[in-house]
Amino acid sequence: MKKKRLSKQQLVEKQKLDEKKFNRTMLISFSILFLCLMSILIFYTYWCDTKYTWRKIAWYSEEVPEKLTCMNGDNLQIHESTKAVFEDKTYYFCSQACFNHLVKHFRKVAIVPDAFSGDSINKADAIIGLKKRNNPELVYFRNKENFNKYYESKH
Ligand SMILES: [Zn+2]
Repeated sequence: MKKKRLSKQQLVEKQKLDEKKFNRTMLISFSILFLCLMSILIFYTYWCDTKYTWRKIAWYSEEVPEKLTCMNGDNLQIHESTKAVFEDKTYYFCSQACFNHLVKHFRKVAIVPDAFSGDSINKADAIIGLKKRNNPELVYFRNKENFNKYYESKH
């Protein structure tokens, strides 16, 4: 039995088609690789910002860890803040300047009204929460009860 042979023209066409197919596969592979690399790069570059954005939303009505706050600026920090002890109480600050400011204006900065009851409290003893969703501004509470009532009243 004789094998059917492709004519020269058919062969050229087949080669062209194969080439096209190969090019397409290569293009797709490189695109996927490129997208993966870009995603990894973006992920690492913006990891802190992404976490920060997520926390501003997800931590609304949750207790905010003090070590991620600046008790002078009353805002949520991207990175861990610095712990400082002043008159036997522990505060957290984003910078030395913020610590100095609190010490200098202690009664005005360290003592704040409870966001629910209005009682005067020391930030070092307070439970910290976010004032609004997707906003770094903080509010302070004397206890968990006031904390819960504050967020319940916002619904
Ligand atoms: Zn600060």
